Amino acid sequence: MRRGGVSWGRLPGVEQRLLPVTSRHQPLPDQPSMLPWGNGRSYGDSCRNDGGVLLGTRTLDRYIAFDPATGVIDLEAGVLLGELIDLTLPNGWFPAVTPGTRWVTVGGAIANDVHGKNHHRAGSFGNHVLDLELLRSDGAVLHCSPTAHADRFAATIGGLGLTGLIRRARLQLKRVAGPWLRGDSQRFGSLGEFFAIAAESERDWEYTVAWLDCSATGGQLGRGIFIRGNHAPAQVAAAAQAPGSGRLRLPFTPPVSAVNSLSLRAFNTLYFHRPSAVARDALWHYRPFFYPLDAIVDWNRMYGPRGFYQYQCVLPQAGAVEVLTDMLRRIGASGLGSFLVVLKTFGEQPSRGLLSFPRPGVTLALDFPNRGERTLALLEALDALTLAAGGAVYPAKDARMSAAAFQQYFPGWQAFAGHVDPKFTSSFWRRVTGSARR
Ligand SMILES: Cc1cc2nc3c(=O)[nH]c(=O)nc-3n(C[C@H](O)[C@H](O)[C@H](O)COP(=O)(O)OP(=O)(O)OC[C@H]3O[C@@H](n4cnc5c(N)ncnc54)[C@H](O)[C@@H]3O)c2cc1C
Repeated sequence: MRRGGVSWGRLPGVEQRLLPVTSRHQPLPDQPSMLPWGNGRSYGDSCRNDGGVLLGTRTLDRYIAFDPATGVIDLEAGVLLGELIDLTLPNGWFPAVTPGTRWVTVGGAIANDVHGKNHHRAGSFGNHVLDLELLRSDGAVLHCSPTAHADRFAATIGGLGLTGLIRRARLQLKRVAGPWLRGDSQRFGSLGEFFAIAAESERDWEYTVAWLDCSATGGQLGRGIFIRGNHAPAQVAAAAQAPGSGRLRLPFTPPVSAVNSLSLRAFNTLYFHRPSAVARDALWHYRPFFYPLDAIVDWNRMYGPRGFYQYQCVLPQAGAVEVLTDMLRRIGASGLGSFLVVLKTFGEQPSRGLLSFPRPGVTLALDFPNRGERTLALLEALDALTLAAGGAVYPAKDARMSAAAFQQYFPGWQAFAGHVDPKFTSSFWRRVTGSARR
């Protein structure tokens, strides 16, 4: 039994015990308050269970079957996406959807129904889950799919680990020619330009994403860099050289956040104007393309010992320029933003989960160093804008949204609550439903 459960935002710790699940055939421990824990890449408290037990799932790391002819893989839920890629890419298969880090488990990817740069084409992770096996605290094992226990399946996709332990899953992977992507990048000067490039890119480009300069003001507000790519054909792949697997490590946690408004403005200006921001026919290895931050181990320590918040919202497309403009003005005026700002359109493909975050529109994600009340007040103001626009905030990134906000963002929450395992709970769930600690 170990202490555990740090989430990616490194906000001040809570007391909880980590009990590794040693075999998928093992029953759950007899504990009144449990929550599965993947690899702690959620930023806030959705992967925390203050005062309770976390079920460590990284030990569920076995492959059960892989068919290189069809790209269907059957595996335990603690396998990391990066490990899966190492196994299947040499056979020409890649996850149909991947988030911005490969250090997430399959179980964690299902439980947050994660999205990637191809949402407009492929929807979210849950759209590619063929079936899964769920262990409940009463010992029942449910084989769930869109046709078997369909309501429990819908509750478990994006179900925040609350419906039981996902022991294994079968996934449909995507056929690719190799590890390379071909594409381009360009600057845009405004949010209007961003939406025009996004709309024009969606037909021909599988992956699209933009970096946004959140310190820009006045006529420069809404400027950024748009990146798009497709998996490269085999002949391009054959000629290219894979990057080394070396990674940098942030050697220590600075005593205060290394991110402040002066360093941010200077950095963003340089980043926006650097010559390589514009690339015509670029060739990227999949690792820097999908996982640029994975190259720096423990980059989350740069925000200092108080940690940081991430705010990620989705807004309906209609009216999004006005709402984003308002948000960026407030963020700029607060001096609290950070370098890591992502803007991306979501497509129309419906998510399968009762509590899934992705929905049609545009999503903005950015980090904020934890400066206490100042940061919380800004995030409340952003929430008010998201609520008024009919949008939602992503639970995987959240550590502070109010119960009222959550319940408006996720109107299916009461139907979902009926699927929660009586012995499963999380710090997040208690906060957003006002339920008591078990
Ligand atoms: C650098 C970075 C980039 C990111 N980019 C994206 C992105 O582009 N898109 C996106 O959607 N997300 C993104 N994320 C968030 C991340 O993908 C999700 O938080 C993901 O769910 C984390 O997976 P994990 O294995 O670390 O799970 P954890 O964070 O440990 O847990 C996440 C949830 O899954 C549940 N869970 C874990 N395993 C199981 C299981 N076996 N059975 C049942 N429930 C389980 C937990 O209870 C918890 O509710 C990013 C995170 C980082 C750090």
